[in-house]
Amino acid sequence: MEKYYERLNEKCKEVSKIVIKDNSILSMLKDEERKFLLSDWNAFLIALISDQSVKAEMAWRLPYYLSKRLGHFDFGKIAKEESAESLEAIIKEKPALHRYPRKMAEYIFFAIKKVVEDYNSEAENIWKNDLNAEHIIARLEEFKGISHKKAALGTLLLVRDFGVNLKNLRCIDIAYDVHVRRIFLRMGLADNDNIKDVTASAREICDEFPGSLTLPFWVAGREYCRPTSPKCEECYFKEFCMKRTELGKDL
Ligand code: SF4
Repeated sequence: MEKYYERLNEKCKEVSKIVIKDNSILSMLKDEERKFLLSDWNAFLIALISDQSVKAEMAWRLPYYLSKRLGHFDFGKIAKEESAESLEAIIKEKPALHRYPRKMAEYIFFAIKKVVEDYNSEAENIWKNDLNAEHIIARLEEFKGISHKKAALGTLLLVRDFGVNLKNLRCIDIAYDVHVRRIFLRMGLADNDNIKDVTASAREICDEFPGSLTLPFWVAGREYCRPTSPKCEECYFKEFCMKRTELGKDL
């Protein structure tokens, strides 16, 4: 089994290098949205908070359009001059920047005040002086609207999509979602459909950075290992899939 996990981990590394260019957060955005996100870590934090109940691209472009409507993206000024209510009105303007303007405005305003008070107005200070991923996850969890799962995802994105060189990557787990769950069960990597089994299995495959498995499994789950009629012949995990033959018969 150890050899199998080693080979599967190698396959994941190989696949990740190929699929990242079309599946990173940055690849979903227009040039101006991407440039803005890359120019300001405060935008990263606000986008991460917004990444719920909407498509990822809507969340990750929100800071750019919020800055346009505000006329700036100065956290100190926003904390002084705005409120959760005024941000809600701005987010609600047509076209709305989020499906849940009230909740997002509350989370975003809280985050802006916290960054001003605790991090000297720079979200980068959440990780800049302590690159331990475990500590960064804990600090992100102190923000409203960031659960443990989202804090881990944000930390994973810092490494994977934004090139921040963090330490202690073994505490960033695979992101458990519908595609990842399905493919782990079908491949026979997890016996039960629960976060504990899938997370434990991912740690077996890649103990040094289980979160690095998210992208290759997520893409394979979405593109090939579909709920009905999986495209096994095209799937890059077919040689590793313990249930392929069985499924081919069943579906
Ligand atoms: S080989 Fe088929 S069943 Fe196995 S992971 Fe790929 S698509 Fe899913």
